[in-house]
Amino acid sequence: MRTKKILVIEDEKAISDLIRFNLIKEGYETDTAFDGKEGLDKALSTDPDLVLLDVMLPSMDGFEICRKVREKSDVPIIILTAKEEEVDKVLGLELGADDYITKPFGLRELIARIKANIRRKAFIGDPIGSGNEEVFGNLTIDLDRYEVRKDGIPLELTLREFELLKYLAERTDKVFSREQLLEDVWGYEYYGDIRTVDVTVRRLREKLENDSSNPTYIITKRGVGYYFRRP
Ligand code: CA
Repeated sequence: MRTKKILVIEDEKAISDLIRFNLIKEGYETDTAFDGKEGLDKALSTDPDLVLLDVMLPSMDGFEICRKVREKSDVPIIILTAKEEEVDKVLGLELGADDYITKPFGLRELIARIKANIRRKAFIGDPIGSGNEEVFGNLTIDLDRYEVRKDGIPLELTLREFELLKYLAERTDKVFSREQLLEDVWGYEYYGDIRTVDVTVRRLREKLENDSSNPTYIITKRGVGYYFRRP
């Protein structure tokens, strides 16, 4: 298999060097950009397999880069965010980012997110299911391919949306608190807050449900949390 190339767009040299060093150690090829415009240019012209994108950058910020890349490319993008306000923005805007990770992050976590996003991308658009599938009503969750189909049509879910859905669907009718979901699905020291779970549930409902204000799959248990109802 061809060596995967990761483009690191990060203006802080020490962080960029640290990420690069660890990616090379993991067998990835890397490229770097220290400035927003240069990053956008490289993302569109050098055909990376994944882009790691900082938010605060000289000449153009990460949000704008993400939006511009998405107009032309479906390369997986992981946003590196430093502040809680940035997390809110990542979640609140339709940027088209696949994932995000908050600074300071653990390198093991970063590598795991990169691997999962690259692996998932490899399966998208392949019309044949993997066989490792769970069917719930009109939804098919393909566990190997990180894909969900509704009435046979693949849905565009982010990795996090997929992982939350998978987690709940593997444990049907069991109610989980938002804190529990944050811990088990997001899985690392996350210093945002539990609204992240609510936002992700809302996004999922908009994609899964025929009427997202009257959901049939992911149900709110008032005052407790969420559960997946087996149809
Ligand atoms: Ca920065």
